[in-house]
Amino acid sequence: MNTRTAIEELLHAGHGNKAIAKQVHVRHQTVAAIRAELGLPNIVRPSRAGYSEDAFWQRTQPVDGGHLNWTGHYNSTGVPCLRTTDGMHTAYRIAFRIRWRRDPVGPVKPGCSMDRCVHPDHVEDQPMRQQYEAIFGAAA
Ligand SMILES: [Zn+2]
Repeated sequence: MNTRTAIEELLHAGHGNKAIAKQVHVRHQTVAAIRAELGLPNIVRPSRAGYSEDAFWQRTQPVDGGHLNWTGHYNSTGVPCLRTTDGMHTAYRIAFRIRWRRDPVGPVKPGCSMDRCVHPDHVEDQPMRQQYEAIFGAAA
């Protein structure tokens, strides 16, 4: 398989320019040019290189009320964290990406009643909190 074919296949598989460039040893500008040529949208995907979702689930434990307890590392401020090859991530952010398949905007915190809950369905980023406040906050 030549480089061009390999790049096209990876593009169609939904990989990012930089990831493809790294894999087939070309400059990411080259990949971007081929992407443009093929008319494929430039998808910015959350990077999943540094950790696996398994690593997240292995450090969780279901608790009463449908919440999820973090059995992994906590940083000095008590935030559940996962050390990955590209640094520390909060478990909240990883949970958020698992649920929503996008990068969160602003800080991610549990939106449920349990402190430090890392359930993917229970974490919220800033726009979600603001939306919630706009709907329910004023009435309270
Ligand atoms: Zn919860």
